[in-house]
Amino acid sequence: MSEERKFICVSCPLGCGLNVTLENGEVVNVTGNTCPRGAAYAKTEVSDPRRVFASTVRVSGGKLPVCPIRSKTPAPKAKLKEIARAVAELNVKAPIKIGQVLIHNVCGTDVDIVASRDLN
Ligand code: SF4
Repeated sequence: MSEERKFICVSCPLGCGLNVTLENGEVVNVTGNTCPRGAAYAKTEVSDPRRVFASTVRVSGGKLPVCPIRSKTPAPKAKLKEIARAVAELNVKAPIKIGQVLIHNVCGTDVDIVASRDLN
């Protein structure tokens, strides 16, 4: 069964509009991409959509009560709510270093949650 889907490639600021043809759930053609990364993005978006997760965590003993965090690599879209709950339960002690791993392998995704800034 053939299906047409449209995506915006978010791999760079150009934001190419992608027209994706699927046959039985598999990507068979991509148009609208300016470079090969667009086709790769479309395939990932169909088979394993991922997003960078960003939020804040509570901090004890720091200059600020919260610290911004993000996933070190894009996390499975289907797991983002579960990741948000895990992050909401976290309370980190200052000092924190930018890039410090705050949750390793969050929710079994093989993705680490890291600090986005230093916090003393
Ligand atoms: S297809 Fe290539 S040029 Fe277009 S948005 Fe994606 S990465 Fe950028």
